[in-house]
Amino acid sequence: MFDVNTELLGVIGYPLGHSLSPLLHNHAIKELGLNMVYLGFAIKPELLKEGVQGFRALNIKGINVTIPYKEKVIPFLDEVDSLASKVGAVNTIVNKQGDLKGYNTDVIGVQRLIEDDGNFKIKGKKALVLGAGGASRAVGISLCQNGIKEIYVLNRTETKAEKLLNNWQRLYPEIKMESGVLSLYPSILAKVDIVIDTTPIGMAPDIEAEPIIDAKSFHSNLLVVDLVYNPTETTILKAARQAGAQVLNGMGMLLYQGIEAFRLWTGIEPEVQSWRDLVENFI
Ligand code: NAP
Repeated sequence: MFDVNTELLGVIGYPLGHSLSPLLHNHAIKELGLNMVYLGFAIKPELLKEGVQGFRALNIKGINVTIPYKEKVIPFLDEVDSLASKVGAVNTIVNKQGDLKGYNTDVIGVQRLIEDDGNFKIKGKKALVLGAGGASRAVGISLCQNGIKEIYVLNRTETKAEKLLNNWQRLYPEIKMESGVLSLYPSILAKVDIVIDTTPIGMAPDIEAEPIIDAKSFHSNLLVVDLVYNPTETTILKAARQAGAQVLNGMGMLLYQGIEAFRLWTGIEPEVQSWRDLVENFI
């Protein structure tokens, strides 16, 4: 039951239609018996500044930020955590007595997806990242932060891969890095330990879309990760699995970034399996 002491959490974005965050966070709130509620706020672009000011005015304790505001929200915050600064994007805001601090929990989301769900240690390994959009930025920082040895980023639009890589190289000069167009993948695939597909190719409803990597190019000493989790096995994961590679979809990233956000707001980590069951029943 809500009362005058009920604390507010929420997600901002525009539009918000696809977000699973209210489902996950309200489930955790209920399980833990907290006097909180998590809502969606579809803030129109021209009202973003006023929306953020409203968090202070209404004492909204915690906010997730989704597309298209992960970068645009930064100028309106009081402080940005160093990892979020490196990514250049905020997906979680903590409100401490009107002081708003931005975090990027996608970074730990990617790490725990790979290391916990994939049982794969990032340190000392070589990675190929496909795609250079918003998700790729958090993937690269997560890999670098956790001691990747070499990183290759390939993208349909080469200049975007170059720009991303230049930023990572400036932050992590000791790591060997290369960027290029997607067609370069065969020579790189032979020397990496992990491939992370950050493109939306194969995502529902276009589930039969041809993957970037030809099935014959995979080898069995690879972990292949697709950030897409609907469907649970995309065309790239199917091809990789058939070639004997270990495969992993992106559901863990969704879960772990949310768990970290909830921990930042409440000090409590929700149980991952109960969230996993929820999402699996939902998609
Ligand atoms: P984005 O910023 O729009 O970037 C998309 C990237 O994919 C760009 O590099 C784009 O290349 C490339 N791409 C798109 N269509 C392509 C095609 N047909 N062929 C080749 N390359 C293509 O999107 P995003 O925010 O990074 O999200 C990417 C995917 O990750 C989405 O499917 C999203 O659902 C998923 N995701 C999952 C999680 C999770 O928690 N599991 C979190 C974030 C994102 P260009 O630069 O050439 O346009």
